Amino acid sequence: AKNLGRSRYLFFDQCIYDNMRLKLSMEEQLRKSLEQKDFTLVYQPIYNTHSGKIVSAEALLRWPYGSPDVFIPLAEETGLILPLGLWVLEEALAQAKRWQDAGTPLVVSVNVSHSQLHQPSFADKVCERLQKCGLEPSILQLEITETALMEDWQVSIANIQKLRDMGVRIALDDFGTGYSSLSHLQQLPLDCLKIDKSFMARIHESPRDMALVQALVELAKALSLKVVAEGIEYEEQMLLARTLGIHYLQGFFLAKPQPVAQLELNRSFAALS
Ligand code: C2E
Ligand code: CA
Ligand code: CA
Ligand code: CA
Repeated sequence: AKNLGRSRYLFFDQCIYDNMRLKLSMEEQLRKSLEQKDFTLVYQPIYNTHSGKIVSAEALLRWPYGSPDVFIPLAEETGLILPLGLWVLEEALAQAKRWQDAGTPLVVSVNVSHSQLHQPSFADKVCERLQKCGLEPSILQLEITETALMEDWQVSIANIQKLRDMGVRIALDDFGTGYSSLSHLQQLPLDCLKIDKSFMARIHESPRDMALVQALVELAKALSLKVVAEGIEYEEQMLLARTLGIHYLQGFFLAKPQPVAQLELNRSFAALS
């Protein structure tokens, strides 16, 4: 029994060690990629539920060596998310400018990490980038998460207020998965709520999930906010979202995240059904 205990201990030790080495080499690779501009952005359209037209494109970061669910948390842990997040913003704004110049203006949605939002200078940085591109603030939507807000409420809310006053749109992402209380929600200067895809996943087969989403939609409407449903993978989900009065839709059923060249900005989803 003593032997087993010892080998188990070694086993866990080895795991932690391997994990650390993996993290270190990933961190190194992240730094290198940042220097070499080894990242790309793909865009996933967000559609108006009723017209079926694209209202925005969400920029999603891609890296050749791992998925966002792995490298974004690591970039956050190491502070690399600050320069990386700025690169995403600049790149997405440059794309917004190209779309505008081509006569097909489109709001770009950019994800913002909590460390960015906690920087007192964040709102000014965004403003400066917008001016540099010669873009109206309303061409930009920032997606923030509830957890991002909780950690440094004062600084975060000051940034959001400043951005919103400028005309930047603010969406609360992953709504329902965080901890924000109703009073927090009421204080936040938001434009819309994005209902997390985990709530949408089973609305077509679970009356309980359907009721939950319905309650979230009612809450949003009571706060005069628009509602986006993400993670629409089936037609039934889309139809149910429509009957629930959800304003905007996003998901694989409508369009996957794609490189700019593959996006079909003129195609509305009504043509599909
Ligand atoms: P998110 O902001 O909630 O983005 C939605 C995620 O759901 C994306 O994953 C998207 O590809 C995926 N998705 C879209 N439609 C569907 C669907 O119908 N079904 C399913 N199952 N998934 C769908 P992705 O691109 O892997 O990104 C994961 C997360 O990484 C994002 O979640 C976001 O939190 C983070 N992220 C991505 N790009 C950035 C970025 O530039 N900056 C920051 N701070 N975070 C980012
Ligand atoms: Ca998002
Ligand atoms: Ca989300
Ligand atoms: Ca998410």
